[in-house]
Amino acid sequence: MFLLVSQICKEYPIRSGRLPILRNCSFELKTGQSLSVVGPSGSGKSTLLSILGTLEPANSGSVQLDQVEILSLSERELPTFRRHQIGFIFQEHHLLPQCSSLENVLMPFLAENRRISKEQRHHAISLLERVGLADRLEHRPAELSGGERQRVAIARALVYCPPLLLADEPTGNLDRNNAASIGNLLLQLAETAMLVIATHDPALATRTTLQYQIESETLIKKEADLSNL
Ligand code: ADP
Ligand code: MG
Repeated sequence: MFLLVSQICKEYPIRSGRLPILRNCSFELKTGQSLSVVGPSGSGKSTLLSILGTLEPANSGSVQLDQVEILSLSERELPTFRRHQIGFIFQEHHLLPQCSSLENVLMPFLAENRRISKEQRHHAISLLERVGLADRLEHRPAELSGGERQRVAIARALVYCPPLLLADEPTGNLDRNNAASIGNLLLQLAETAMLVIATHDPALATRTTLQYQIESETLIKKEADLSNL
């Protein structure tokens, strides 16, 4: 699969006119590739990810996920598209505090069907095993460490096997060791998906296939780029 982002522009209306955030941002990503976006706070990283994730409209430009122009999806099409095609990972885990790890991972299924099938349950357990939480299935978020909570959030993001993973400061709340292992996990997942990470963490940003920064509303490709290796 591929993600083709062309000439995205975004501005917010403000009282004194319009506030430009992104100008003509373009890039291309394929399955098996990861891309990092760095830039100072307020530079537009989250805005870019929100546009890619269909949470926020762009003013102009195009975002194609395979044959689908995602910026023209209707309000009616969006929830299902998002659930199946995009895995979101945020700085805050957004887990339900009263639910176990397993229930949290099953939540996207519950949003579509009232009953969880045996296969879905097995799938969720295998995802929790994959993120290293085989023995934490019944723990609630408060009974997990910060790194473990983020792993549950990652397993939940993977439940429909989305081709595109969007991670907004995924290691922002973690100490260095946990940040490194969550970074490893994400990059490993990107071997079979496409991953876009907004991050302040240089140790993570320099490990992705493609590396971009936002500077003066423009997405600029950084030199250190392993995509042609
Ligand atoms: P980053 O993630 O790089 O820190 P953001 O994408 O969150 O940056 O924000 C980029 C800029 O857009 C910020 O200056 C922010 O204040 C502004 N912004 C974000 N959302 C809105 C909004 N709904 N209305 C006006 N300005 C906004
Ligand atoms: Mg942000």
